Amino acid sequence: MRDFSTDHRWLSVNTATVRAQWPLDRIVDECARRGIRAISPWRDQVAAVGLDKIAKAVREHGLELSGYCRGGMFPAADAAGLQVALDDNRRAVDEAKTLNAACLVLVVGALPGALAGRAVHKDLTRSRAQVHDGIAATLEYARSVGMPLAIEPLHPMYAADRACVNTLEQALDLCDALDPDRSGALGVAVDVYHVWWDPKLQAQIERAGRERLLAFHVCDWLLPTRDLLNDRGMMGDGVIDIPRIRGWVEAAGFAGYSEVEIFSAEDWWTRDGGEVLDTCVARHRSAV
Ligand code: ZN
Repeated sequence: MRDFSTDHRWLSVNTATVRAQWPLDRIVDECARRGIRAISPWRDQVAAVGLDKIAKAVREHGLELSGYCRGGMFPAADAAGLQVALDDNRRAVDEAKTLNAACLVLVVGALPGALAGRAVHKDLTRSRAQVHDGIAATLEYARSVGMPLAIEPLHPMYAADRACVNTLEQALDLCDALDPDRSGALGVAVDVYHVWWDPKLQAQIERAGRERLLAFHVCDWLLPTRDLLNDRGMMGDGVIDIPRIRGWVEAAGFAGYSEVEIFSAEDWWTRDGGEVLDTCVARHRSAV
């Protein structure tokens, strides 16, 4: 297992971590200034500043993108809605390509309408079938332009509104169905916040192997957790044994970035952005 205690060569910052403090161009500058080598930006943050401007800033600073957030949200109530989602995913693939991202992260979606507060049906099986078909269609295009897709299984508390793929096993079943040759075009994003509780986690990480492990996201699970979405903890402040999980992904062949991804409305988003990034650097060394 790599030693992270002496430097932060393998730290990536998911830019949602300081989204409340700064626009993306400033985040890029602040990361580069601290010797952070990689980021993973969100589409809305890129759009707010401009894709070309961000692509140029990333190039000039020599930053890498450990991922691009995000594609997915495939299920819909009707054919028109499904097509809108596919078109949007195609644009996400193109943006990821322009930014030279390592992968496009997929949060696959769940019950149509649920995210807005009102699910139009209760058929999760139907949503899962739409997710399968949506990834298949997007994969065909992504493959043609050379952009890997990383399915991110989300904690089951998001099964209604954000992702009906909730375990690494489910995500890998999709990978096996859609990319049986393990070509590298389709894999998973392992986010410790979503999968740390899973009794099958180690076995499924081994199953994933190097070809399927496309991204590794870290933060911590706080006690108590006060909000289902925006109360993630800084590494070391919660109950996830992050080094153990990192040991498993590295034993399986993963050698990429540890991407810090913290949504924290009442704590980290209220602090000075510089303090947040400096803490990410320190905790990357001591708690990842
Ligand atoms: Zn994540």
